[in-house]
Amino acid sequence: KAKAQGKNKCCLFDDSMREEVMKRACMEGYLRDALNQNELTVFFQPQFEIETGVLRGMEALLRWNSKQLGNVPPSQFIPIAEENRLIHQYGKWMLRHACRKNREWQNKGLPQIKIAVNISPRELEQDCFVEQVIAILRETGLEARYLELEITESLMINGDVKAIDKLEELKKAGVGIVLDDFGTGYSSLSYLNSLPIQILKIDKSFITNLQRKESDISLVKAIISLAHNLGLRVVAEGVENTGQVNILKECRCDFTQGFLYSPPVDEKMAEEILKNQ
Ligand code: C2E
Ligand code: MG
Ligand code: MG
Ligand code: MG
Repeated sequence: KAKAQGKNKCCLFDDSMREEVMKRACMEGYLRDALNQNELTVFFQPQFEIETGVLRGMEALLRWNSKQLGNVPPSQFIPIAEENRLIHQYGKWMLRHACRKNREWQNKGLPQIKIAVNISPRELEQDCFVEQVIAILRETGLEARYLELEITESLMINGDVKAIDKLEELKKAGVGIVLDDFGTGYSSLSYLNSLPIQILKIDKSFITNLQRKESDISLVKAIISLAHNLGLRVVAEGVENTGQVNILKECRCDFTQGFLYSPPVDEKMAEEILKNQ
């Protein structure tokens, strides 16, 4: 907070800030042990083709149930894991888990779907990232086309040119690349051409506003038609009601994901969803 207030301003820690700092330090300590303590799990949220209702994939989302802190949301612990580089270990664990699970489902004769995994820019910085992904695919026996990696635009802001090469390589290997949270932060339309992506995920903030703001409908419509013109397909995330679905259909959106269909669920529930297809 102090940082955000500018260099010239002096700022003393008040009690609530001290508490924040302590909480964070605590969390960091517990997070280090989360994997060893079996506190990390993976939840899955289904994605459907909007026209047919056919299940096309699931997004894998990390969950931390801490013995000391209870359930901590990823929005709190992922940034900490990114700072202290735990994300390398946890990201790899997540990727392996997600690929293994998808292969397991396929082995059971369940519908063949994509599994989407969020990748932090920190992970992409690793020189061996591409090899790591390929190795995990080989090890788990999952074909590359059943894996999607979700990246964000922050990748471009950091100007990591090598990261784009790595994504290019992964794409060549058959892995799907998704641009997540599109429309937030420092979005620039030029990213759509410079990143080797196949899918664009419109951020849920746009979807939330769809029924309230006429101008958001125009915006979403324009984003989708631009994406289609570039040969991309579009996922709407954070879809919570049928009103939004109707508008998204009108806008020719390809896929949807959100609480309306299902929240992120555990492995067992995810398997049930697959069986019911
Ligand atoms: P994200 O990749 O954009 O994931 C979608 C988030 O939206 C998830 O939050 C999901 O639970 C939530 N969501 C889904 N449908 C709805 C809806 O209809 N309404 C609303 N309001 N929210 C919905 P979650 O699981 O808390 O994850 C937050 C973020 O944490 C993710 O955003 C992703 O950026 C990050 N994250 C989660 N797991 C991982 C991981 O394994 N690795 C990395 N690097 N990041 C992760
Ligand atoms: Mg995502
Ligand atoms: Mg994300
Ligand atoms: Mg997102």
